[in-house]
Amino acid sequence: MKDNNVILEVKDLHKSFGEQEVLKGISTEVNRGDVIAIIGPSGCGKSTFLRSLNLLETPTSGQILFEGTDLTDKSTDINVTRQKIGMVFQQFNLFANMTIKANIMLAPVKLGVMTKDEASKKADELLTRIGLLDKADAYPAQLSGGQKQRVAIIRSLAMNPDVILFDEPTSALDPEMVGEVLSVMKELAEAGMTMVVVTHEMGFAREVANRVMFINEGTIAEEGTPEEVFGAPKSERLQEFLSRVL
Ligand code: ADP
Ligand code: MG
Repeated sequence: MKDNNVILEVKDLHKSFGEQEVLKGISTEVNRGDVIAIIGPSGCGKSTFLRSLNLLETPTSGQILFEGTDLTDKSTDINVTRQKIGMVFQQFNLFANMTIKANIMLAPVKLGVMTKDEASKKADELLTRIGLLDKADAYPAQLSGGQKQRVAIIRSLAMNPDVILFDEPTSALDPEMVGEVLSVMKELAEAGMTMVVVTHEMGFAREVANRVMFINEGTIAEEGTPEEVFGAPKSERLQEFLSRVL
């Protein structure tokens, strides 16, 4: 039997775009309850790696197992798996022509996971949790960037995912709105959600993550606890990266 604690298993993942090899053999595991911060220079393959985890990018070679199911196997229905993998993007990706509440209800209703009534109740619950119930009937354009991103996070929660992938969730925000989004993420982490977070917020990585992964030039160049990675970086490359971002 597979270890029940392992949610995602990545085996020798390679990804090329044309001639350019972006991921050069990544192997790792994500365990239930892990909060993994992925750090590294721009263009090193962080987004490509994250997007590969739910097959938004198709690996060139290697395997990704989600709860024991090989996502790279042609016979796997990726849409079923994606229901269990939430994703939050830098640019929120809310549907502009739908109300906030409709955005949250969309996936559970459309995929037949909940009735309209159930989804409506869930949406109210989630909006209450982030203090935005009064925005239920507003449209995304009427919200601040921080509010939109908090909605995007609870929208992913509406599907009761087993893991949520975040790709630089605060990078598009005005500085004064970063804190409110990070605090929602911190609450999620404290509630036990499994999270993989590409971030430039080193404070968050240090405080909230249990593992920090430094990706450089398409490989995991160094990995460890926040204490290890920030307190005692081994490689010169990581030391240099940290000296630039801290
Ligand atoms: P990061 O998120 O670490 O900044 P990315 O994973 O977005 O890096 O990109 C890694 C490299 O892959 C970059 O050189 C980028 O230009 C390239 N790349 C990413 N997506 C594509 C794509 N769809 N087509 C071609 N090249 C891509
Ligand atoms: Mg990126």
